[in-house]
Amino acid sequence: MSGGLPPGRWQYLGMLLGATKGGGVRRKRVVIAGLGDSGVLTAIRLSRYADVVGISVKPALVSGQELGVRLSRPSEWARDYWIPFERFRGLDRVRTVHATLTGVDLAARTVLAQRGDGSTLTEEYDALIISTGVSNGFWRRPTLQSAADIGADLRDVHDRLADARSVIVIGGGAAAVSSAANLATTWPAKRVDLYFPGQRALVEHHPATWGRIRRRLTDAGVVLHPGHRAVVADGFACDQITSEPVRWSTGQMPASADAVLWTIGRVRPNTDWLPAELLDEHGFVRVTPDLRVPRHPGVFAVGDVAATDPLRASARNRADRLLAHNVRAGFAGRALRTYRAPKQRWGSVLGVQPDGLEVFAPSGHAFRFPAWSIDRVLQPWIVRWGIYRGVRQPYS
Ligand SMILES: Cc1cc2nc3c(=O)[nH]c(=O)nc-3n(C[C@H](O)[C@H](O)[C@H](O)COP(=O)(O)OP(=O)(O)OC[C@H]3O[C@@H](n4cnc5c(N)ncnc54)[C@H](O)[C@@H]3O)c2cc1C
Repeated sequence: MSGGLPPGRWQYLGMLLGATKGGGVRRKRVVIAGLGDSGVLTAIRLSRYADVVGISVKPALVSGQELGVRLSRPSEWARDYWIPFERFRGLDRVRTVHATLTGVDLAARTVLAQRGDGSTLTEEYDALIISTGVSNGFWRRPTLQSAADIGADLRDVHDRLADARSVIVIGGGAAAVSSAANLATTWPAKRVDLYFPGQRALVEHHPATWGRIRRRLTDAGVVLHPGHRAVVADGFACDQITSEPVRWSTGQMPASADAVLWTIGRVRPNTDWLPAELLDEHGFVRVTPDLRVPRHPGVFAVGDVAATDPLRASARNRADRLLAHNVRAGFAGRALRTYRAPKQRWGSVLGVQPDGLEVFAPSGHAFRFPAWSIDRVLQPWIVRWGIYRGVRQPYS
């Protein structure tokens, strides 16, 4: 992908400082394994201070956020959540490598990867950041894909759901709730049923968040079915839209629809390429509160793959900032900072709606960006400049 750009002024300054301090200090090299939501932000933050290499199976940021908008209005979703790496100004100094990570040699401080043509590569690091995220359903898979593959995936799923007269959504988390709501508002004539096991959905959010979202679901015509736990067939990875009747281990009669969406939170950490000694009993990367991997100096983890807290929510809690600080502090021998996670999930649940975007605090309070502000303030100024430090317009 990109790379090969001439060094920026900070790089020259760094080289100059290094040279005056003691004769040609080598810039540290940071490898970021997985360039998704957390990996991209961490790379942007570190690129001024180190030689950063990012390895990813996608040639773009393909965010795991806002599933409902992605399924029902994919063009709108793609505009904000599928962004080729070369459009991020902050990645200009980062060398991005389109390849699948296959292993790490912790003693030699190298990671191994394989490109699409089968050739292999090795990257040395002074610091390794593991941010390979999780697999979840058909919408988050660690497969090597071109831009055309990503676009085809988006269209196929959208067309399948557009053609269905009725949809069953199974699950009680944000992905399920967001899918049900957005399908119902995009296609008001479609019957949409949401089945979840507890008496309420969004159990990891504050109860007030569910209160507000439940009203929005019923206003949109979604039929709610609490107390239903679906039977998952042996070996079914919940990564396809199905059309067979759904059976319930909670005793109710089977239910049918043209399309069944399995959003039951069966996430699997993308850690096949890592040695077991780095992982906890569920396959997530063990970390200390400063996001270091125990007993392996120079190795860090962040995002959904990192076993930071019970919700593993360091991505949405913007731990990329703390991580970038800690990587630099580690290089300089300074004190590292500690990550503290809120106890309840927060953020957007439904994505942008005709009346704007609601963001829920851990306390359950909702803050709404009005519709007019999304394209004029939120996306251009807060997201593209504030969070990503500049995103170029798409090439026509
Ligand atoms: C700014 C921001 C705002 C957010 N807001 C919300 C919100 O409002 N509501 C909400 O619910 N959540 C929100 N989230 C969180 C979000 O839902 C997820 O937690 C987030 O997408 C996880 O990011 P990640 O980097 O850990 O994983 P991912 O984004 O999935 O990135 C992992 C990347 O690694 C790649 N990869 C995996 N394995 C390999 C391999 N072997 N080789 C090469 N590449 C590989 C994957 O394909 C992927 O590209 C937010 C996150 C951020 C950063």
